[in-house]
Amino acid sequence: MNLAVLLEESARKYPNKDAFIFMDKHLSFAQIDNAANQIANGLNTLGIHKGDRVALSCLNLPYFPMIYFGILKAGAIVVPLSVLLKHDEIEYHLQNSGAKAYFCFEGTKELPMAKEGLEGFNRVSNCKHFFVITPQMTDPSPFEGVKTLGMLMANRSSVYSTMVTGADDTALIIYTSGTTGKPKGAELSHSNLVLNAMLSKEILSLEREDKLLIVLPLFHIFAMTVLMNAGLYVGATSVLLPRFDGAQVLGLMEKHDISIFAGVPTMYWGLLNSDETQFDIASIAKNLKTCVSGGAALPVNVLENFEKKFNVPIYEGYGMSEGSPVVTFNQKEFGKKPGSVGVPVWGIEVKVVDDKGKELPAGAKGELIYRGHNVMKGYYNNPKATAETLKDGWLYSGDVAIKDEDGFFFIVDRTKEMIIRKGLNVYPREIEEVMMKHDAVSMVAVIGVPNEESGEEIKACVVLNQGFELNEDDLITWTKEQIASYKYPRIIQFMEALPMSATGKILKKELS
Ligand code: ATP
Ligand code: MG
Repeated sequence: MNLAVLLEESARKYPNKDAFIFMDKHLSFAQIDNAANQIANGLNTLGIHKGDRVALSCLNLPYFPMIYFGILKAGAIVVPLSVLLKHDEIEYHLQNSGAKAYFCFEGTKELPMAKEGLEGFNRVSNCKHFFVITPQMTDPSPFEGVKTLGMLMANRSSVYSTMVTGADDTALIIYTSGTTGKPKGAELSHSNLVLNAMLSKEILSLEREDKLLIVLPLFHIFAMTVLMNAGLYVGATSVLLPRFDGAQVLGLMEKHDISIFAGVPTMYWGLLNSDETQFDIASIAKNLKTCVSGGAALPVNVLENFEKKFNVPIYEGYGMSEGSPVVTFNQKEFGKKPGSVGVPVWGIEVKVVDDKGKELPAGAKGELIYRGHNVMKGYYNNPKATAETLKDGWLYSGDVAIKDEDGFFFIVDRTKEMIIRKGLNVYPREIEEVMMKHDAVSMVAVIGVPNEESGEEIKACVVLNQGFELNEDDLITWTKEQIASYKYPRIIQFMEALPMSATGKILKKELS
């Protein structure tokens, strides 16, 4: 089994159908498949074969799937890197993964990706080949003596016999988002990823006629599996957008009759807060069939406001890089519960356990663990982290959850983000949900800050809605009336914006 089958089968069945649309470019399934074959042929001539690692930094452009599947066809392992990484981080990822080659998009003025990429690459001895992905395939290299993707592909045959790989062979080393610490490389197999793409089709009720909008970054497991791979599998068309911008998303939804949208919560928030005067929301709403949210907790009021405005259900799910990613989802057959991440997906067992690994009854808080076909092989080159996370086939997620009487899971928070104030456990997400209900509050992140008397004190970093004024004391007083006294924030800091990762997650580790 080779993950590339997702592309190859559709290229065989619907060769001339659009697989991807980017700006005014339309690329058919056959065009993507042929380009991937040329890249695989090119990689073989460099001596890159089965089991070798090849890194890829690319925005949401059609080059991403071409290179991704080119690497896979050669039997090699894809190592996608975040587009925001700086040279030191690139050095770490290339070294940690033992990559032999590195494809890096040229970038833009604001985001000089290839400049950073080359700097990192030049410091790593295991990585021998650097290819810059220029905006147009025929563009000359922006750096003297540095090869381009176009040069690798030139005059290569577009026929390739895909390497046979075992279902358990590694297809991908995907680095976690680094929300809580240094990113770790989760090693996922061909079968991990094929099965998760198939499941995603079911969850999204995806059909060949669907139009997907992919603005979530393709280097992250959410968009890669749930949108790109699932879309290729069914033969649907995906519209690519490299950077989230509320107005651009609405514009593309309108232009392309988008039926499927997936986002992280900050994107739903962004869509509710963007200027929409020039768009026909009713016609956008008419075409939208399914929206999904994951990656972080979706505040219930954002969910409700979005569903009302766009007249479309948002199905929230829970997943992680280590789980390929999907673990649980609100699925149509089971109904959905706001605030819940749904029930386990097909073939996955999920439990809430105490700190000894013993299953807890419904309603009790504990760590969420799971096992099944989606569980990674381990963290690449990191046996210590692997041993802490994988025990007897169960993956310990590091997330605190509750299972209710109906078998629905609720994510309480990350274990690492729990605040211990005067010996009592406080979960930031609960406080955030409450504060989001205040009319003036647009976004909030609650963190623990060191405090001599309480051990940790509760602090809320708050972004206000435009046109609202509020002082710290009034907000504290208001919050104090809504929740138990040991939980309300004692410190408030108003901010213009919250620090955000490339995947759109709020980076609490950067708040203090
Ligand atoms: P790192 O592991 O490097 O700190 P990360 O955990 O953010 O980064 P990802 O694999 O991208 O890396 O994210 C998985 C995590 O995202 C989950 O463990 C969970 O904490 C959070 N998450 C995902 N979906 C949801 C959801 N629906 N509700 C709440 N949290 C979620
Ligand atoms: Mg994690």
